[in-house]
Amino acid sequence: QNERDSQFIVSDFAKNHFHRLLLNSEEGMSIGYGYLKERGLNLNTIQTFELGYSLDSWDDLMKAAETAGFDKKYLEKTGLTVIKTDDQGKDTGRRYDRFRGRVMFPIHNISGRVVGFGARTLKRDDKMAKYLNSPESEIYHKSDVLYGLFQARQAIRTQEVCYLVEGYLDVLSLFQGGIKNVVASSGTSLTEGQIRLIKRYSDNVTVLYDGDAAGIKASLRGTDLLLEGGLNVRVVLFPDGDDPDSYIRKVGDQRFTEYIETKSQDFITFKTTLVAREASNDPVKKAEAIRDVLHSIAKVPDAIKRQVFLQQTSATFGIDEQVLITEYNKLVKSPG
Ligand code: ATP
Ligand code: MN
Ligand code: MN
Ligand code: MN
Repeated sequence: QNERDSQFIVSDFAKNHFHRLLLNSEEGMSIGYGYLKERGLNLNTIQTFELGYSLDSWDDLMKAAETAGFDKKYLEKTGLTVIKTDDQGKDTGRRYDRFRGRVMFPIHNISGRVVGFGARTLKRDDKMAKYLNSPESEIYHKSDVLYGLFQARQAIRTQEVCYLVEGYLDVLSLFQGGIKNVVASSGTSLTEGQIRLIKRYSDNVTVLYDGDAAGIKASLRGTDLLLEGGLNVRVVLFPDGDDPDSYIRKVGDQRFTEYIETKSQDFITFKTTLVAREASNDPVKKAEAIRDVLHSIAKVPDAIKRQVFLQQTSATFGIDEQVLITEYNKLVKSPG
């Protein structure tokens, strides 16, 4: 049994411990389970994703692991315990549980083994981070994991599309609503590793952005990466203030599915309309916007698709197609 195995085993132990607390402890049932119920999740979803609850205690997990005979060092290596350091960064010898009083979302790799955790605070007020994640470890590389992929992978194959959302709750609500081909980047911007993962199962991605302007702007860049990866990318925007989770809760499964089907747009088309609208009639801004779109088009590996997008862009901006193509050719030849 090597180091990595031990880290997998202690993560699995913690997952089972948190899960048991959620369903069988007084605190877990009233606070943790109560919260999830309030957010509309049922027992079946909780079990499928092996959700849990960490007690509001400094050492509950440490004690349980010790009783079960685990070496402390594996709790440290997986970040389940925090090593308390002094001002100089020197180990004080003190330890405490990283996750306390939170709903626990185990993060599985594609073989279904738990590699880390996301954890949501249940306190409404404080400055405490809403979500806390396991740190990187030998078994957890954030950039190579997508939340929900283990549960979604078959559905992504059969539906021939992967829905990409921002958060844990978005994955859970959609899955429960029968939309099982859904994964989350968990707030971080997409990485090449995550894109390669998606590509194993499908060439089609539909990005379901949170409906806030900041979110959309930020994700435009990440979405360009999907294009570079050779994926067909569509996007769906939700009404301002809604995310996929809040929206499906508002309108129900049926109308949500219809919404996605009717409102989804090809990413380049979406981006073109967005930047064209923002540039309005300012010639300088317009030229900038066009170059921005051309850069995205350059990332599409398929030559025929590129041609179609160029035609579309020329129409949207009202720019002669030959002029646009000349500009495009200059841009792809010039470095940077
Ligand atoms: P909820 O519906 O529970 O309030 P959310 O998923 O809608 O949460 P967002 O603020 O939209 O929350 O963030 C999307 C995702 O980004 C989260 O699910 C989480 O993975 C990640 N995230 C958000 N805030 C933090 C944070 N403070 N630290 C680390 N990750 C975060
Ligand atoms: Mn958001
Ligand atoms: Mn949300
Ligand atoms: Mn959200």
